[in-house]
Amino acid sequence: MKKLILKQRTDTPHWVGDGFPVRSVFNYMEHGKLMTPFLLMDYAGPTQFSPTTKRRGVGEHPHRGFETVTIVYSGEVEHRDSSGGGGVIKPGDVQWMSAASGVVHEEFHGKDFAQKGGDFEMIQLWVNLPAAFKMHSPRYQGLKDDSIPRYLLGNKGSFLRVIAGSFDDVEGPAKTFSPINLWDLRVKAHDTITLKVPADQTASLFVLNGEILTEDGNSLKNADLGLFQRNGDELTFTAQADSKILFMGGEPIEEPIVGYGPFVMNTKAEIAQAFKDFESGKMGNLSLIEGAE
Ligand code: MN
Repeated sequence: MKKLILKQRTDTPHWVGDGFPVRSVFNYMEHGKLMTPFLLMDYAGPTQFSPTTKRRGVGEHPHRGFETVTIVYSGEVEHRDSSGGGGVIKPGDVQWMSAASGVVHEEFHGKDFAQKGGDFEMIQLWVNLPAAFKMHSPRYQGLKDDSIPRYLLGNKGSFLRVIAGSFDDVEGPAKTFSPINLWDLRVKAHDTITLKVPADQTASLFVLNGEILTEDGNSLKNADLGLFQRNGDELTFTAQADSKILFMGGEPIEEPIVGYGPFVMNTKAEIAQAFKDFESGKMGNLSLIEGAE
């Protein structure tokens, strides 16, 4: 049995651009060694947006050295990057963007959603890359809802969706640079679930809503993150209410983390180089991409 070793939450939201009221649930400055290979989580919403004809979101900015993974639960996010990647991510869809050697991108609400308004809820994770892949060419994976397989859990209609990695014999569609399991769980009240997870990898649960009780008696609810010990290969909990949960696990990347703003590398010299390369246009430019306004 994996025991809970850290409970973490953030109640104070801040705005990313004018589109994303996020709570930063964890970040690599404080939790990098514990949460590896995950660097950071921004939880946007749940909230409501009124209809608008304006573009709400965050304009052109760079990234290097990691991946951004965006999971949309409600609303729509529209994305465009300098490697040519882009698209609209809708509820159930996941965008896995490997910035790696560097991209410039923008993130806005989808046009249709903006015009109608409504519920908005999404998670953005920053996923670290091993040093050997930080300067890999950028890669874009737009994973549609229907490409993410489901696996039935328990006996009350609970299930999980395998975004990355595998669960039992079900494989997720995301290609990753190091072993990662990312599962979207919907657990029914009073269902007891045992997740088989690889021993010696990190394992954490983020409870978006609902409430669960871990086997060692800890409650996790409404935007609580729980990190479990690496020993053991079974994680068991009971849902106290219908719960929406994200499981994050992976092989630790035991390398120095040096980050500044939109760049996460291994040394200060690499960060300085990232700023130089961005400023000299080596990470690309959205105005050179077809379809630019
Ligand atoms: Mn970004």
